[in-house]
Amino acid sequence: MPSPSDRPVPTRRPAARRKRGEGQWALGYREPLNKNEENKKNDDGLNVRQRIIDVYSKTGFDSIDPADLRGRFRWHGLYTQRRPGIDGGKTAILEPEELDDRYFMLRVRIDGGQLDPARLRAIANVANKYARGTADVTDRQNIQLHWIEIESVPAIWAELEAVGLSTMEACGDTPRVILGCPLAGIAEDEIIDGTPQIEDVHDRYIGSPLFSNLPRKFKSAISGCTAHCTVHEINDVAFVGVVNENGEVGYDAFVGGGLSTNPMFAQRLGAFVKPEQVHEVWAGIISIFRDYGYRRLRHRARIKFLVNDWGAEKFREVLEKEYLGYALPDGPAPAAPLPRRDHVGIHPQKDGNRYVGFAPRVGRVSGDLLHVIGDLAEEYGSGRVRTTAEQKLVILDVPPDRADDLADELEKHDLQVGPSTFRRQTMACTGIEYCKLAIVETKQRAMDLIDELERRLPDFTEPLTINVNGCPNACARIQVADIGLKGQLVMDENGEQVEGFQVHLGGQVGATFGKKVRGLKTTSAGLTDYVERVVRRFDAQRTEDETFAQWV
Ligand code: SF4
Repeated sequence: MPSPSDRPVPTRRPAARRKRGEGQWALGYREPLNKNEENKKNDDGLNVRQRIIDVYSKTGFDSIDPADLRGRFRWHGLYTQRRPGIDGGKTAILEPEELDDRYFMLRVRIDGGQLDPARLRAIANVANKYARGTADVTDRQNIQLHWIEIESVPAIWAELEAVGLSTMEACGDTPRVILGCPLAGIAEDEIIDGTPQIEDVHDRYIGSPLFSNLPRKFKSAISGCTAHCTVHEINDVAFVGVVNENGEVGYDAFVGGGLSTNPMFAQRLGAFVKPEQVHEVWAGIISIFRDYGYRRLRHRARIKFLVNDWGAEKFREVLEKEYLGYALPDGPAPAAPLPRRDHVGIHPQKDGNRYVGFAPRVGRVSGDLLHVIGDLAEEYGSGRVRTTAEQKLVILDVPPDRADDLADELEKHDLQVGPSTFRRQTMACTGIEYCKLAIVETKQRAMDLIDELERRLPDFTEPLTINVNGCPNACARIQVADIGLKGQLVMDENGEQVEGFQVHLGGQVGATFGKKVRGLKTTSAGLTDYVERVVRRFDAQRTEDETFAQWV
């Protein structure tokens, strides 16, 4: 008989580990698992509008409840902007209240990018009266204003709403602006005009309490553009125009695209959606996100994580069985995109008129410029103007014999119709000028970069995207640029920490994410020299028709 000491030590079987939930409502996790979820449960973000009108605009900034200030205000397009003078090294260290300025950024949502002179003038007047003249066209077709004081917000809303514009659900855990092709209804080669479906979804669901408490933001696109200018591959949901085998025109649906710190391309559901079904399929998909989306950890709360875990097949099955109550037929995939997805330049419309797309530098315009654009659109066209998903603008309905004159007028205001590759294809996010998450300056840096590259490389005309971001959040799509620049602090040659960028090379929307080359970083001061070197090497080494992504 073995002595007690020889006996094997009984190992205690570990208790079966309880799998931690992801906070999915559909699986019973209705109690908030973090502060953001708690705030949303305590009060619907949409309700803050009335408090802003009745209380905060009268009692001032200091009276604002912090849960409203840093949470629910976003449901109506308001973010506190960064206090000036705080360098990027402090971004991650300071408390939110130390970073907060007493002014706000206000995002005006422009679904489908649809503007006219009245809308342009309303935004321009608001910019000049209340926003120190600032206005930035974003890469989601919105226009952002800065330096807004809480006292002005009700008057701003009244002015915007009088022309059918709104800031509702422009930010926050909500269905954000719906992207649409700026040429919807006029493009010679479009598959379908997505405008009625955008309006349908907007009118039924934006501002509805049905979808005002999502796990996180939800980005949509609906378009029949053959260039795929609304970049369906990186939206949470996208409807892309197709023609099925019976010759019927409708949409293919994509879900689960998004960039940020875990980039993923959207997956095709492979279902054919008739135009009149788009609103209910959209509602089904956003309902899945609301009910099954991961709410425990904010960085896993986008729909892409759910789609990645489930796969497109299961997602479609849940959509059809639990939400639609019917099966969708299979449908074709859309055709491949064109090499340039913007709509810059003078091009024919299907009615014989011309559209004129032009490029401000990295989307930066102003109240005064918006007035000019509205006036020119009226003088030379029908008044219709569109924003694009690449920080550009387009004036529609210009008679062929007047298009060149309009281009000349626009050029006088530095709104270029025939821009260089660098002006045309460089985007920049808001950056340290106003954004509380930023580590580096972006807009001015990108504008200086464009000017200098135009001077140094005047003959370079190949497509090349350069996207400048102020932090890892990828608002200006670093991972899908030929040269993606992610703002961070880097060491300069003296061993000092300075503003700089991690470089990602060879990204392409829908195909591949840019390669983050280890150690490939540049200081902000050395940025232009770095980009010039890369572009010169590409230009010298590429074979005919080789793109930057292929060359890398
Ligand atoms: Fe701000 Fe970062 Fe987004 Fe730029 S990428 S706007 S710095 S959060």
